[in-house]
Amino acid sequence: MEFNVAQLIKDSPGAIKSCPLSDHLLSLENQTADKMSLLDPSKEISLSGTADMIRTDAGIWVTAILNCEVVCQCARCLTPHTRKLSLKIDEEYYVNTYISNTFEIEKTQFISNENILDLAPSICDHIDLEIPLNPICSKNCAGICVNCGFNLNLDSCICKNTTEC
Ligand SMILES: [Zn+2]
Ligand SMILES: [Zn+2]
Repeated sequence: MEFNVAQLIKDSPGAIKSCPLSDHLLSLENQTADKMSLLDPSKEISLSGTADMIRTDAGIWVTAILNCEVVCQCARCLTPHTRKLSLKIDEEYYVNTYISNTFEIEKTQFISNENILDLAPSICDHIDLEIPLNPICSKNCAGICVNCGFNLNLDSCICKNTTEC
């Protein structure tokens, strides 16, 4: 999710650039946010939406609304299911010479020497926030049988048909 912002950096504060995104692929490799472990790191996530960039005194302010789908494992029945996520990003990125006396800036919030602004860390943080701690495939998910491990969404298991004595 790298953007070359060389032109916008040359512009004066207030300049705006709108970047439409369609099916941009986000790699999950090297991403470390907590709940990323619920996702398959070998799968790329396809993102669509728009990123609006505004030149500020200190760098570039990015406002983006991005839609994506992630596949994660149901906490009850363990079956992979697709979740639609809508991510709202609203963050300032700084030219790498910028020094703030009032707040600390994370490394990922800087625009590189080569004028590359990388939205991937922020997108991953937002995906992480949007995924529930225990994602469930549907609110009616029946889960698995604690006895035999059968997925009870598919059918009832043999344990249920056997009368306990
Ligand atoms: Zn489930
Ligand atoms: Zn069972």
